[in-house]
Amino acid sequence: MSVQHNRDPRYDILFEPVKIGPVTTKNRFYQVPHCNGLGYARPKSLAAMRGMKAEGGWGAICTEEVEIHPSSEISPYIEGRLWDRNDIPAHRLMTDAVHKHGALAGVELVHNGFHAPNRTSRLPPMAPSAMPVDAYDPVHARAMDLTDIRNLRKWYRAAAINARDAGYDIVYVYAGHCMTTLMHFMLSRFNHRSDQYGGSIENRVRLTREILEEVKDAVGDQCGIAFRFAVDELLGKEGMTSDGEAQDVVGMLAELPDLWDVNISGWSQDSSTARFEPIEGYQEKYTAFVKSMTTKPVVGVGRFTSADAMVSQIKRGVLDLIGAARPSIADPFLPNKISEGRIDEVRECIGCNMCVSGDNLSVPIRCTQNPTMGEEWRRKWHPEKIEPKASDDAVLVVGSGPSGLECALQLSNRGYQVTLAEAGIELGGRSTKESKLPGLASYARVRDYRTNLLQQKSNVEIYLDSELDEAAILEFGFSHVLLATGSHWRKDGTGRHHHQPIPGLDTLPTFTPDDLMSGEAPKGHVVIFDDDHYYMGGVLAEKLIAAGNSVSLVTPAVKASAWTEYTLEQERIQAKLINLGIEIITSQAVAAVKGNEIELSCTYTGKTKSITADALVLVTARNANDDLYQSLKSSPDKLIDAGIKTLEIIGDAYSPGSLASAVYYGHLAARCFEGENWDAALFDGERPGLIS
Ligand code: ADP
Ligand code: SF4
Repeated sequence: MSVQHNRDPRYDILFEPVKIGPVTTKNRFYQVPHCNGLGYARPKSLAAMRGMKAEGGWGAICTEEVEIHPSSEISPYIEGRLWDRNDIPAHRLMTDAVHKHGALAGVELVHNGFHAPNRTSRLPPMAPSAMPVDAYDPVHARAMDLTDIRNLRKWYRAAAINARDAGYDIVYVYAGHCMTTLMHFMLSRFNHRSDQYGGSIENRVRLTREILEEVKDAVGDQCGIAFRFAVDELLGKEGMTSDGEAQDVVGMLAELPDLWDVNISGWSQDSSTARFEPIEGYQEKYTAFVKSMTTKPVVGVGRFTSADAMVSQIKRGVLDLIGAARPSIADPFLPNKISEGRIDEVRECIGCNMCVSGDNLSVPIRCTQNPTMGEEWRRKWHPEKIEPKASDDAVLVVGSGPSGLECALQLSNRGYQVTLAEAGIELGGRSTKESKLPGLASYARVRDYRTNLLQQKSNVEIYLDSELDEAAILEFGFSHVLLATGSHWRKDGTGRHHHQPIPGLDTLPTFTPDDLMSGEAPKGHVVIFDDDHYYMGGVLAEKLIAAGNSVSLVTPAVKASAWTEYTLEQERIQAKLINLGIEIITSQAVAAVKGNEIELSCTYTGKTKSITADALVLVTARNANDDLYQSLKSSPDKLIDAGIKTLEIIGDAYSPGSLASAVYYGHLAARCFEGENWDAALFDGERPGLIS
C-alpha cells in the first residue's frame, strides 16, 4: 500500500535521527520500557506486540524490565528474563521483529534487590543493608557483601553480552521506580553501609558507576548504554529529589551513559492515571534539569499524545527523545500517523491504566483504547488492518456506547454498509456520561476517536435520538443486527456481597450511579455503598462532597476502590477521599435500611451497627439492557420474515464489564462477523514446550 506523506513541516523535528552512542534511532519516537504480562511466559506474543510498534514507526522499542539473575525475580509478575544464554532465543524473536521495521531494540536489565521476594527461586533477596523485603512476605533481604557486589557486576556484564548477542542495540542499566538494587544503594534511607558503597552520595552512587562502566566495557562498542534514573520520588527530603541529590547523581555520571532515560518514582507517580495527572508532560517540572547537565541525549515521558506537545519538549530543550509507554500501547502507529499527516486518527491514551492491570494481575496486557493490544500474535489482530467484508449485506448497530462505536467503526473498515442508531442525543454511551464525573474527562477520548472516524465514512449513517424497539428493527429489515444497548446499575443492592435485595430501600431516598450521572442530586448526609470496588464509588463520593454534602463510603472490602490497586490508583484515591473529608467505612456492608437508619454489618463477624443518612447511593452491580434482544430472539420466525439473518448482542448489553471490555467485545464482534467463532483463536495460545 502506498503511503501519503502529508506531514506538517512543524513536525519534521520529530523525525530527526538521534545518536545513542554507537547506534542511531531513525526518529525521536522512543518506546520506553513497559511491563505487559507477556514477558518470559509468552515470547511470541511479546515479539508480535513489540514488532507492531516498530511497524507503526517508533524509532526505538524497549523491553520491560528484564531480570539478569535468579537472585532477583519478582514472580508471580511476568517480566523479561535473561538469566543465561538459554534465554537468548526468546529475546531474538523480539529483536528480529523490531529490526524488521528499522527500529532499534532496547533491553532494560534489572536487579531488583529487596523488591524481589524471590518466591520461585527461593534465594535470599539482597539489599544494601539488611531489611525485610518490600512486600508482606515473611522474607528478609540480606546485606550485600563485597563478594555479592563483585557478583552483581559479573551478572550485569554477562547479561549485557547476552543482550548484545540476542540482537539488542540499546542496553539499559536500570535505577528507577525504587524497585532496583542500584536505586536502593543510592538512597540513604535504605543504604546504611559504612564501607565505600555507603555514606556520601559519591559512595552511594559508586555501584551504579561501576556497573555502567562494566556494561560499557562489555558491549559499549556495539550497543548504546542507557541509564534509567528516577530523579524525584515526590517524598521530599526523605527521598531522591530533582532539586537535591538527583542533581549530584546526574552531575557525577553525566557523560557515562549514552542516553539518560529519566522519570519520577514510584511507579504510580510515573504512570500516573489521568485522574491524578490530567495534563500531558506532567513530569517536565522534575526532569527538565537533566539536559542542562549532560551532552548526552535525554528521553522522558509524560503521556504524550499530541505532536505539538512533543515538538515543544524538543524545541524548549527539555527532551531529545519523546518517551512513551501508554501512548504507544493505545496507538502503536502514532509516529506513522503524525508522519503521514493523519493526526486526527491518533488513538489517544485515556490514562486509565487498564494496561498496567495486566502486569499487576500477571495476565496479558489489554488496553481500553486499543483492543488489539496483546492480541497481535494470539488472534493475529493488527490495529490498523482488518479483513475485508464477507458479503454486501447491510448491518444495523443499535447503541453508540464504546461497544457499538467500535463495532460500527470496524465493520465500516471492513467495507460493510453500517447504520448506527442511538436513542440519546449524544454519541458515546457510558464514555460520554462517565467523562463528566470528577477526574474522568479523558474517558471521552474513547468516544471522540471513534466518532471522528465514523463521521468521515461514506458507508456509515448515524442516527441520534432514535430509540429502536422491536417493531422498528423488524420493519427496517437489515440483514444483520448487532445490539449494543449497554447496561444499567441495579437499584436493589444486589452485587458481590448481597445476592438478595437489601430490605427497606423504599424507606430512604436511594440512587444509582445512573441517577447521579443524569443529574439527580441527593442532599445532606449521603452514604455510598460501594460493592463495585472500581472507580465509580470513589468518583461519586468526590462529586457528592463537591456539591456540599457530607459523604460516607461504605465498602465490604478492606480499602476504598479496592480493584484500583491494579491500576496503581488505590493509595492515591484513599488519600484523596480522606483529604476531602469523606468518611471511609471498611469491612462493612449495608445490611438493611429503616428510614434514615442504615444498618451495617461487619464482613468478618456479622455484628451490626447503625448509622444515619439522608440518602443512599448503591454502587453494587449492573444489569444488561437485553430486553430488546430477548424479545427479538424469542421470535425467530419474525426475524426470518423481516430478512434478518443474524442477531447479536455485544458489549455491556451482553455482559457488563469495564470500558476496555466493552470496546474489546465490539471489536471482536466486528472481526468475527460473518467469519470464525470468537473463541477459535484462543486454542492456539502459547503453551510451554516439553522439550528440554
Ligand atoms: P457499551 O459499554 O456496551 O457500549 P453503553 O451503555 O455505553 O454500552 O451504551 C449503550 C448505548 O445504547 C447508550 O448510548 C444507549 O442510549 C443506547 N441504546 C440503548 N438501547 C437503545 C435502543 N433501543 N435504541 C437505540 N439506542 C439504544
Ligand atoms: Fe492508555 Fe488506558 Fe490504554 Fe493504558 S489501557 S494505554 S492507560 S488507554
